[in-house]
Amino acid sequence: MSEFDVDLFVIGAGSGGVRAARIAAQHGARVMVAEEDRVGGTCVIRGCVPKKLLVYASQFSEHFEDAAGYGWTVGETDFDWPTLIAAKDREIDRLSEIYIRNLERSGATLIRQRAEFEDAHTVRLADGRSVRARVVLIATGARAYRDPALPGAEHAITSNEAFHLAELPKRIVIVGGGYIAVEFAGIFNGLGAEVTLVHRGASILRGFDGEVARMLADEMAAKGVRFLLGETPAKIEKTAEGLTLVTDKGSVCAVDQVMLATGRRPNTDGLGLDKAGVALDGAGAVIVDAASQSNVPSIYAVGDVTNRINLTPVAIREGHAFADTVFGGRPVTVDHSDVPTAVFSQPEIGTVGLTEEKALALYDSVDVYRTRFRPMKHILAGRDERMLMKLVVDAETDRVLGAHILGPDAGEMAQLLGIAVKMRAKKADFDATMAVHPTAAEELVTLR
Ligand code: NDP
Repeated sequence: MSEFDVDLFVIGAGSGGVRAARIAAQHGARVMVAEEDRVGGTCVIRGCVPKKLLVYASQFSEHFEDAAGYGWTVGETDFDWPTLIAAKDREIDRLSEIYIRNLERSGATLIRQRAEFEDAHTVRLADGRSVRARVVLIATGARAYRDPALPGAEHAITSNEAFHLAELPKRIVIVGGGYIAVEFAGIFNGLGAEVTLVHRGASILRGFDGEVARMLADEMAAKGVRFLLGETPAKIEKTAEGLTLVTDKGSVCAVDQVMLATGRRPNTDGLGLDKAGVALDGAGAVIVDAASQSNVPSIYAVGDVTNRINLTPVAIREGHAFADTVFGGRPVTVDHSDVPTAVFSQPEIGTVGLTEEKALALYDSVDVYRTRFRPMKHILAGRDERMLMKLVVDAETDRVLGAHILGPDAGEMAQLLGIAVKMRAKKADFDATMAVHPTAAEELVTLR
């Protein structure tokens, strides 16, 4: 008899945990997965997937407007929030079921309970049972952060609640200038709400290419989003009509909802990590090495709980690599460089590699190729919205260090640009590629 009940115990059935569990089970490991909430994790239940469905919904208002330029008479339109939310919930239920089925098919055992560490090899379930595991994987993700020092923060929602509001707010303030803030600003604005974005920085999307971030803010403002930059909330108060948010600069916003999108924190509280001796960093993230192993040899962690690159596909890769390495006898290390990503703002961002600012700091000589133009579809529509594309190139080697796009389908383009940048393509390789005409993407191979 083994001294362990299972080979692998996974805490958290999100993207990273489920992938690790399935692959480890396929390698013949006895696997147990504990989940205290719904199966699927942030991405499926309260993140990427429902967000994108809401983005699609919000884009129809512009599609209806643009249709007139193409000869259509759309007539009066109406939008029903509860219908959208119910449809979104049905899709999330379907996806969550698929996650459960896939886990079960792989042979892993799913336990719908919270699990906490007792020691480096033992977890205790909420029903009091203890399970001894040869290896434990922490895949508990992250949660929305509310600044406890902000008076009235309890009146605000986060992205979690935004997906379940009983009605569409007529007026909303969104606090923050990251992915979640800009994506939800676009969603609510497109659905007809009056949106104010309050951000402490001088420009949104810190860490993104500055030119892209500035142009996004301009385009969002042109669509009606109001920006209060360089301001932070001082207090939120309940009023007879709704809520009032007052900033440190004295701006007053009377709204129906305040949404905090001020970052996320790793889910490590109350997990008993101190009993297991697992080291955390200052932000509460599990410290891991390149193999996702913590300072305790039997304990690994993947995904947002490690606060490396907090993106679903990264968590999935980390989970897969962990399972192959520990249970498949095939050591795999995840390469965290040149990760392509999209922001489903309106307009959308697709990006991979170094920003212009980063490249200038790291390389002696950098060439930047850029174009700004009006996408073809906008011309008949009479929409005065521009698209931006830029390539950041190491002038010495001609290597494309980064590619940044703002405009329709930028996310789709980022996936393919990701391959080129990963293959260390040179600007000359882009130039040698024949254009696909008429597309927006063709601009990438005709930049001079
Ligand atoms: P981010 O960390 O990206 O942004 C947080 C924002 O809130 C920043 O603008 C930050 O300002 C601001 N902020 C932080 N603390 C405070 C505070 N106390 N008061 C006022 N403002 C504050 O977090 P998000 O919540 O937007 O997203 C979390 C992560 O989820 C992202 O890092 C991303 O990896 C992932 N994600 C990915 C998506 C995608 O791929 N499309 C979509 C959504 C999320 P400052 O810049 O000054 O620090």
